[in-house]
Amino acid sequence: MERFDIWIAGAGYAGAVTARALAEKGKRVRVFERRDHIAGNAYDCLDEAGVLIHKYGPHIFHTNNKAVFDFLSRFTQWRRYQHRVIANIPRDNPEVVPAHKKTDGRFFFPVPFNLDSLKNAFGEQEGERLGQKLLDAYPAQSQVTILELRQNPDPEIAAIADYVYEHVFVHYTMKQWGQKPEDIDPATTARVPVRLSRDDRYFQDAYQGMPAEGYTKMFERMLDHPNIEVLLNTDVRQYLSLEEYDILLQGAGLPLPVPLVYTGPLDEFFGLCYGRLPYRTLDFNFETLSQDCFQTHGTVNYTVDQDFTRITEFKHLTGQDLPGVTTIVKEYSRPYIGDPRETPYYAIINPENNALYAKYKAEADKKPQLHLLGRLAEYKYYNMDAIAARALDLAERL
Ligand code: FAD
Ligand code: UDP
Repeated sequence: MERFDIWIAGAGYAGAVTARALAEKGKRVRVFERRDHIAGNAYDCLDEAGVLIHKYGPHIFHTNNKAVFDFLSRFTQWRRYQHRVIANIPRDNPEVVPAHKKTDGRFFFPVPFNLDSLKNAFGEQEGERLGQKLLDAYPAQSQVTILELRQNPDPEIAAIADYVYEHVFVHYTMKQWGQKPEDIDPATTARVPVRLSRDDRYFQDAYQGMPAEGYTKMFERMLDHPNIEVLLNTDVRQYLSLEEYDILLQGAGLPLPVPLVYTGPLDEFFGLCYGRLPYRTLDFNFETLSQDCFQTHGTVNYTVDQDFTRITEFKHLTGQDLPGVTTIVKEYSRPYIGDPRETPYYAIINPENNALYAKYKAEADKKPQLHLLGRLAEYKYYNMDAIAARALDLAERL
C-alpha cells in the first residue's frame, strides 16, 4: 500500500490516461480493473476467425483536441479512416428513388442526413430545389438539429423535417432509448444533425482515425510504465469501506491515505443506497461470415425497421486484410437492470435521473480522497476524446 501515491479504479480511457499522466509526473499509481482486460469499453481483440473486433461496440476515434491527439499518438500510429454511415430503409416512395439506389425493395442515403440524402429521398430535381430552400432558410449555419428543423413554420421545410424525423430519427431513437426524440436529452439527437452540405462523413473533427494496431495495444503501451501497476479482475470496492466523511481501508479501519480516482458507476460505489441510476445497455450479436465483405460502409443504420439499430462491419474500420472472412455486429438496445453480465453503456440523461445522480455526488463530495472521472462516474454521454481531455486535466490538478 505504502508503495503507491494514488489509486485508480478502472483501466478505460479515464483510468489509463490519468495513470500515465500521473506516472510521468513521478507518482506511483495502482490501477484496479474489475474486468479481465484493460481498455474499458474501447477494448478490441481477435475473434475466433482472426478478425479484429470491438467487444463493446464499434469505436471510432475523432477529436478536435490537438493535445489529446498528441498524447494518444505517443502510444499508437493511426490508420487514416473517416467513418461514413448510411441509412438502410424500406422503400416507401418508389417513384422518386433513382434506379441505382434500389435494392431488394430497400434504399439508402447518407447519415447524417445531408443535401445528397435529400436527393435520394425526393429525387434529383426536387431534392436540389429543397436543398436550396434549406440553404436559404439557414444561411449562416452548416448544420441544423432535427428538433430545430421541426420548429420551422415554412410548410415545405416542415415537410422535410417530417421526412427526416420519420426516416432517420423517430424509430431509431425509439429502439435506442425507448423514447421519442423530443422526450430525450436534446444533446443526444444533436450529435447527428441535418447537414446543410454534401459532407457525408459521420464526424467532422480535425483528427480522425483508428489505432493502427488496435485500441488494446495502445492502452498496453500507455500503461507500460515503471510507476504503474495494473491489477486485473480486481474490484477496488473490496479494499474499501465507506464512512460519511471518509473512505477507510477494509479491515484496517484506517483512512485511505491516497487519492482515489474512481471511473465506475457512482451508484454502485455507494452500494445503490439511493437506488439504481438508470442506464441503457446493449446486446451485441456478432456474426462471422465466409465472405470478403458484407456491406458497403463501416456502419449501416436501420433507421426505420428491424429490432437492431445498426450493423457494423469491423474490417471497414480497421482496414484488416483478411480475405474470405468478415465479422459484423448488430446492436440491440434495452434497459439495464443491473445483472452482473450486463454493462451500463448509456446514462439516461433527464432531470429526474440527474437529481438522483446529484444525491450520490453529494455523498462523494464529502469524501476528501475521492475524484470522479469518466462516462460512468460522471453519468454523462462523453466520447473517448472528451474523457481523455478530462483525464489530462485531472492529472494536472492532482
Ligand atoms: P469505460 O471505458 O467504461 O471504463 C471504465 C472501466 O472501469 C471499466 O473497464 C470497468 O470495468 C472499470 N470499473 C468500473 N467499476 C470498477 C471498480 N469498482 N473497480 C475496478 N474497476 C472498475 N466514443 C467515441 O469517441 N467514438 C466512438 O465511436 C464511440 N463508440 C461507442 C460505441 C458504444 C456502443 C458505446 C457504448 C460507447 C462509445 N463511445 C465512443 C464512448 C466510449 O466508449 C467512452 O467515451 C469511453 O469508453 C469512456 O471511457 P471511461 O474510462 O469513462 O469508461
Ligand atoms: N440517431 C437516430 N438515427 C440515426 C443515428 C442517430 O435517431 O440514424 C439518434 C439516436 O437518438 C441516437 C443519437 O442520435 O441515440 C446519437 O447517435 P450516435 O450515432 O451519436 O450514437 P452512439 O454512436 O453514441 O450510439
